Amino acid sequence: MKILILAEHDDLQLSPSVHQAVTAAQFWNSPVHVLVAGNHADAVAQQAASIDGVERVVHANADHLAHPLAEDIASLLVSISEGYDVILAAHSSFSKNALPRVAAMLDIAMISDVLEIKADNTYVRSIYAGNVLTTIQSTDAVQLLTVHGSNFAAASLGGNAEIVNTEIPASFKKASWKSEVRSQSDRPALGSAKIVVSGGRSLGSAEKFEQVLSPLAYKLGAALGATRAAVDAGYAPNDIQVGQTGVVVAPELYIAVGVSGAIQHTYGMRDSKIVVAINQDPDAPIFQVADYGLVADLFDVIPELTAAIQ
Ligand SMILES: Cc1cc2nc3c(=O)[nH]c(=O)nc-3n(C[C@H](O)[C@H](O)[C@H](O)COP(=O)(O)OP(=O)(O)OC[C@H]3O[C@@H](n4cnc5c(N)ncnc54)[C@H](O)[C@@H]3O)c2cc1C
Repeated sequence: MKILILAEHDDLQLSPSVHQAVTAAQFWNSPVHVLVAGNHADAVAQQAASIDGVERVVHANADHLAHPLAEDIASLLVSISEGYDVILAAHSSFSKNALPRVAAMLDIAMISDVLEIKADNTYVRSIYAGNVLTTIQSTDAVQLLTVHGSNFAAASLGGNAEIVNTEIPASFKKASWKSEVRSQSDRPALGSAKIVVSGGRSLGSAEKFEQVLSPLAYKLGAALGATRAAVDAGYAPNDIQVGQTGVVVAPELYIAVGVSGAIQHTYGMRDSKIVVAINQDPDAPIFQVADYGLVADLFDVIPELTAAIQ
């Protein structure tokens, strides 16, 4: 039995979630290989090779993998899939885009966002935005899944895996990468920040969102997050949306400011170690998942809190 992990990276840095995927893969107690597909991503291949528990890094290096399309990743995975009994990745937009295509090409089931691995082919996953947990079993010969990163501890460094190059199928011609716009910020990345300050629609405008929350985030060295309502209203950029249809975070400290606590939002932050909620409505659902709650007007208390932090 062999396990293959699809690694997410930006050609320079391996995503921390790969360490969590390696821990998930340990369940099968079998050799774990990691696929690093990119353009001269040698440093990333080295990072993957140094994760404890990884036996081999399969390095796919090609110009067209600099900004990989899901189609190219899928055909690459399928081309090397023989001999692997489990193919997995940490659950993210990247893996959600690529792995269902692999499922279709191999004619097997896609098992998404696994919270717990119960047996070789049996998994716990949530439905209805986390309101119901289901235990499912796949009888497919190859198990294809994404895992909910924050439910698995990160594998530590200390490995020394071999790195092997692999043949790469021709690039997909019907679509091509043109450009991408990345928001620039000197704040920590949302997905890996230790502290997250999130704001809701209650902030009232993009200017107030920035004016009220940024000083607090700056003082705490925190990433900024937002609810979908705040994003839809244009108060915050799409890439900081936390929740079921946004980013899933599990920081040490999550401060929810004027956030109602809808299940689609809490799905993305409920694994946070400590949750602080500030809301003027004592019945707001966010207080049900909060360790500390403050019933107050955010426009009064956030400036006070920010001033009090040295
Ligand atoms: C399929 C689907 C997917 C979704 N995915 C997501 C997702 O990924 N992430 C997400 O966040 N949402 C998601 N949503 C939307 C979600 O259901 C909620 O509508 C949204 O989270 C509400 O955002 P909010 O708390 O900012 O706004 P509101 O519901 O408007 O709540 C505002 C809160 O602020 C409080 N408040 C108002 N003024 C103040 C003040 N001055 N001081 C303190 N508190 C104040 C209010 O009491 C209220 O609790 C999704 C919905 C659907 C249907």
